[in-house]
Amino acid sequence: MKYRITGFKRSFGIILAAVLAVAVGSVVYWQKVTNRLAIDARQSIVIVSRELTENFERLLGAELQVLTALSVSLEEPAALDSKPQLITYLNRQNRRNSFEMTGVQFPDGETVFSNGQTQQNFLSKEEEATAYEHSHYVSSRRKDPFSKKDILVLAVPLRANGEKLGLVFATQPVVFYEQALASSSMHGEGLSFILTKQGDIVISYPEVPFDNLFDFSQKAVFDKGLSAEQMRRDINFGKEGLTGYSVNGNHRFSSYRPLAYNGWYGLSVLPTQSMAEKAQELMLMSLVLCLSIIAVLVVLLIFILRLQYQSSKALYKMGFVDPLIEGDNLNAFRMKFAKAEQGLKEKGLPVALALVNVNRFKAVNDIYGFEQGDQILKQVAEALQTGLEEGELFCRSGADVFLLLLACPDRDELGRRLDALLDRAGRFCRTGGECLPLSLTCGVYVIDEDVPFYIMMDRANLAWASAKQHAGRSCAFYDEAYRREIVNEKRIESSMEQAMLNGEFRIYLQPKCDFKTGITRSAEALVRWEHPEKGLIPPDRFIPVFERNGFVLKLDLFILEESLRLLKRWLEEEKPVVPIGVNFSRLHLEDPSFIETLSSMADQYGVPHSLLEIELTESVVFGNLERMKQVIDGLHEKGFSVAMDDFGSGYSSLNVLKNLYFDCIKLDKEFLAKGEGNPRMRQVISGAVEMIKGLGSSIVAEGVETKEQAEFLSRIGCDMAQGYLFSRPLPAGEFEKRLQDETKK
Ligand code: C2E
Ligand code: CA
Ligand code: CA
Repeated sequence: MKYRITGFKRSFGIILAAVLAVAVGSVVYWQKVTNRLAIDARQSIVIVSRELTENFERLLGAELQVLTALSVSLEEPAALDSKPQLITYLNRQNRRNSFEMTGVQFPDGETVFSNGQTQQNFLSKEEEATAYEHSHYVSSRRKDPFSKKDILVLAVPLRANGEKLGLVFATQPVVFYEQALASSSMHGEGLSFILTKQGDIVISYPEVPFDNLFDFSQKAVFDKGLSAEQMRRDINFGKEGLTGYSVNGNHRFSSYRPLAYNGWYGLSVLPTQSMAEKAQELMLMSLVLCLSIIAVLVVLLIFILRLQYQSSKALYKMGFVDPLIEGDNLNAFRMKFAKAEQGLKEKGLPVALALVNVNRFKAVNDIYGFEQGDQILKQVAEALQTGLEEGELFCRSGADVFLLLLACPDRDELGRRLDALLDRAGRFCRTGGECLPLSLTCGVYVIDEDVPFYIMMDRANLAWASAKQHAGRSCAFYDEAYRREIVNEKRIESSMEQAMLNGEFRIYLQPKCDFKTGITRSAEALVRWEHPEKGLIPPDRFIPVFERNGFVLKLDLFILEESLRLLKRWLEEEKPVVPIGVNFSRLHLEDPSFIETLSSMADQYGVPHSLLEIELTESVVFGNLERMKQVIDGLHEKGFSVAMDDFGSGYSSLNVLKNLYFDCIKLDKEFLAKGEGNPRMRQVISGAVEMIKGLGSSIVAEGVETKEQAEFLSRIGCDMAQGYLFSRPLPAGEFEKRLQDETKK
């Protein structure tokens, strides 16, 4: 099924596109996040290095201030006079501040420490000079002479009235500063350095296994556009800066800023790896989220597709599959029709549409039940289907109707093929070993015109209807003449009501005469349609149509009423009166109030019932004997006489007549025609007449046209003649005149 494949292809495409979009999105997202994090890392390292330098400067500044305050307190000349006193003082001060040790170095180089020790030239002459020049001095890293710890020495000049009295100094272990640096080390992830301009490490946190950063940075691989040289140059010129490099494959950002002391630098290092790890973690989380969303979407999509597939399958089944034969229905047939037709035509074969119907299938259902009925239909369908050739189509279009699209190389050939096919399909039907007398009828339209499908169906249907009308034919081909006939029938139907209102139906009377004298003994009322455009239409053209649509019921009563009106007038005017025979269609027999209606109408006009003869045709009589007997008895009870019309036209059984009493039997004109020049037939006719006479019915011979006929009929015992030899059917006025003329004679 095509719809299914395209649906899956489309969905697969959607899934693929979604996965691709997510992949591309992930890559772009990855890059963006990495870039963003790199920018963030750079920004934060700059901030960290600023923090580092500021903290360190603030710390040194504060320590130098403390030292300055100490120097001010020592400016009193007396304070320096006694060494033991000075040491005691320093010692006391020392306990108040955070220094390891304090001391004074006199201009002569003598150095006194708060621990009571003395030394010569603890600070060199250059250091002393620097301290005087800048009013303060911070030393490089050096060893404490007593504890051997790494320390820094801070010094400020000691002056009194402009006179240099020496230097006040303090020592502070490097560890102390390291702790101060720890706060700027980004929670232990980064590194903080205080460097000299030459790259020598003054302080680092945490400790590192090298002394000079510039030396170390020779091993690093710098980012594009950056170099160790540039960093060195920046630091030389007192510029702040930012650099990036990798050591052993680990990337780092580093920011450096000059410090206000000794031309030193504060430098912070931050490994980007931790950033990348964060990014990766973020990415991974995003990816997991994306994948779960995709997974949910895919599951949803599959679910929707499944649902869609199931519902379209169900819809297809509902719309295109016949539930009984589990094959194509009319919709499917129509869908495939154009292509199949084209295919057959391409083989150079004319194409025909055949409609097959099981005759009287309702009876099969009634007798065997629906279940068996269904089984039979299935078998018929199977048989028809197996008769198909390549490229031909088959469907069940309705209850017991099947359609076939067939190749039609030749009408006769197709006719034979279909006859055989229908025969086989009919024979197949066995239920419980019993074979049903199943017959099928088929209408064929050889497609000779480019008309819509429904018109083809109509034509095949028309052909079928015509096959059905002609008993004994199982197959009929559509032809134009038949169609015109049907169109004509439709026209008749559409104008009949109005014709009745317009009084276009007229009563004609045909005399039934005495053979010898030719005198009118009674009459038959016959209808004529005086059409304003088409002229006089004979009843054979419209009565069958009216029989089919039921209008004949109305028409018969109208002719009855016209007859009653005539009789009434003749009686009133005391004119010669004869009984009138009125034709009644078999349809009246289904009306339980038929007899009552006739009786009350006759009474309404005050016409004696004996003046009416009810003509019922032979085929009706043998249709339902039970009902017939009821009707005949009922009519007799009301005083009407009853005639059997068209005797000898069909399946007359003289035996039946023994059970039904007719006042009159009318011999059909065809029956008589058969006797013409046929002595055996004449014998049959005379035998029948004799028998009828024996039953007590009178006999009217219809269609008497010649004297010989009249002679023969009279001789064998017919009572009356109705035929052109005596008179044609006459308009009421002419008939009346004929009666009057006869009485005058
Ligand atoms: P039907 O009842 O057998 O009527 C006799 C038909 O034979 C009439 O044809 C009549 O004109 C015709 N006929 C009479 N004599 C001759 C003759 O010598 N030679 C030939 N060839 N024909 C002759 P019509 O009037 O055309 O009626 C045809 C049929 O129409 C009637 O056959 C009857 O079955 C039906 N019909 C006519 N009027 C009515 C009616 O009012 N109601 C019903 N239900 N059927 C009617
Ligand atoms: Ca008749
Ligand atoms: Ca007749």
